[in-house]
Amino acid sequence: MSVAIKNMDKAILKHLRDWFRKSAADLPWRLSDLDAPRDPYAVWISETMLQQTQVSTVRDYFVRWMKRFPDIETLAAADENEVFRYWQGLGYYSRARNILKTAKIINQQKMDGSRRLRLQDDNKATMPTTRKELEALPGIGAYTAGAILSLAYHQQEAILDGNLVRIFSRLYALDFLPTESKDALKTYWDYAREIADSPKAYIHNEALMELGRTVCKIKNPDCASCPFQKVCRAALENRTAEFPPSKKHIQKDWHGTVLVIESSDHKILAIHGGQKFFKNQFTLPHFESQRNATAGIPAQAETYFNTDLVTSVQCIGKFKHNITVHKMECDVLHIQLRSKAPVRNHSAKTAHEIQWIKREEAQEFFANSFCLKALALL
Ligand code: SF4
Repeated sequence: MSVAIKNMDKAILKHLRDWFRKSAADLPWRLSDLDAPRDPYAVWISETMLQQTQVSTVRDYFVRWMKRFPDIETLAAADENEVFRYWQGLGYYSRARNILKTAKIINQQKMDGSRRLRLQDDNKATMPTTRKELEALPGIGAYTAGAILSLAYHQQEAILDGNLVRIFSRLYALDFLPTESKDALKTYWDYAREIADSPKAYIHNEALMELGRTVCKIKNPDCASCPFQKVCRAALENRTAEFPPSKKHIQKDWHGTVLVIESSDHKILAIHGGQKFFKNQFTLPHFESQRNATAGIPAQAETYFNTDLVTSVQCIGKFKHNITVHKMECDVLHIQLRSKAPVRNHSAKTAHEIQWIKREEAQEFFANSFCLKALALL
C-alpha cells in the first residue's frame, strides 16, 4: 500500500500559492493579509464549525459566536445551554460540548499556572503551541491541531481532511481511502506533510482547503482552473470521476418515540441524562420503539410520573431527523397530566435530572433541532 513520495515540485507549490492569492474568498475568519498569523482561538472555532458543515452555513454562525464569545475566558465562563444555542443548526453537538470543555481546561490551566501557557499581549489565554498538547484536548484531532499550528503559529505542520484526501487521491491516482488501513492513512499524511514541509505551510494548507472546496469539487472538478492541472494524474488521464474511490455508506434506521409531557400549569418536562441521544444536555424524553406501536402510555414514560395523573395521551405527529449514522423517524406523543409541575425534581435512582419548562419558553430552552421538531407539532 505504501506509495513512494516524490518531491512536490517547488514551481507547482508556487502556482498553488499564486492561485490562492488571486482566488482566496473573503471569509470572516480569514485576514485580508494572507501572510499574517491568525488568532489561534478563531482558527480553532472556525475549523471545528467547518467540520461536516458548509462554509456558507458557518459564516454567520462564526460571526455571531465571536461576537458573544470573543475569547477563551468568555467562552469558559458560559453556560452549556447558551453555548448549544449558539451552535443550534450546525449539528453534531458533541463538537460544541468539546469546545466548551476545552475552553474550561485552558482557562483553568491559566488560572493554576499549571502549564507553560502562551498568553496574548493582553494576558488572555490562548491555544497550546504543540501538536501533542493540542491533540490531548477534547475535540481537537490531527486536522484541527495542524490547522491551528500552521495558520496561527506558522509552524510547518500538515492538515488532512476530506477535501485534501480528494485532492491527493486525484493528484497521485490513489485508488484507496485513508480509512482502509494504517498504511493507507500514513500515505495520505505523508503527502500532506510533504506540502507542509515549507515555511509557507500556512498558505499551502489554506490553499488546499480552498482548492478542495471551490475547484477540486466532488463532482465535476474544474481542472482548467487548477494549479495542479499539469501534474495531476487523474486529470491527465481523464479519470477524475474514479478518484477518490467510493466508500460504502452505512446508515442505520432508528425508529423512536419522543414524549412531550405537559403539566396542568402548561409546563413541559425536560430531562438531562439517561437518554439515547443528547446525553449531556436537556432534551425531551425519547426511546427506541416499534413503528405503529400500540396506543396508550408507554412503559418508559412511567419513569417520569404517576400514570394515575394522566388525563390524555395523543400521538400528535411524526418527524424525521438524522443524528450521526442514525436515520431517524420519531412519533411524538403528547401526554397531558392533571397535576401542576413540581418546582424541581432530581432523580438519584435513574441518574437523570428533570426540569419543568414553561410551554412558551420551551422553544428557547431546548438547544437542539430534534426537540424543536417535536415541539413544533404541539
Ligand atoms: S487537476 Fe482537477 S482533479 Fe486534479 S487536483 Fe486539480 S481540480 Fe482536482
